[in-house]
Amino acid sequence: MNADQLADVVAGISDPEIDVSLRDLGVLRSVSLAGDRIQVHLTPTRLGCPALGEIARRVRSALADAAPGHESEIVWERGAWQPTAVTPVGRDALRMAGYQVAGAAPRCPYCGGEDVVRAGRFGGAVCKVPYDCRGCGSLFDVIGTAGCSAGLPFTDSDQGGPR
Ligand SMILES: [Zn+2]
Repeated sequence: MNADQLADVVAGISDPEIDVSLRDLGVLRSVSLAGDRIQVHLTPTRLGCPALGEIARRVRSALADAAPGHESEIVWERGAWQPTAVTPVGRDALRMAGYQVAGAAPRCPYCGGEDVVRAGRFGGAVCKVPYDCRGCGSLFDVIGTAGCSAGLPFTDSDQGGPR
């Protein structure tokens, strides 16, 4: 396994909340391999804040299967995620799950209408902004617009240099 192959392993892991790969979500930044040490740089979507622990677990588990005996470290690059990093495949998957990726004007993922209003509540998730579509009456979430800096973890281990 070289770093590129390991990157493919990580890229194919699905987000715990939406069935879309980390690559298509734009979450995977890089994978490097130094000796028996794998370092994975990920950037959390604002959507996935509560799921980071689960993503880290999946990544570590997949790498343990793909490269036994290696040590994996996950580094979260906070704030580095951009809605533009989401691939067309990722956008489609998000849309089917009822999410709209911010970037242009919010648009209803169900009817495509632009006559939408921000719903007056934030629910429990700071990562999503709810909108109402006045065209078809659907409620949908826009991700990537709300600030979500609160509670972001953690690098997976200390950030010191190579041991
Ligand atoms: Zn609509």
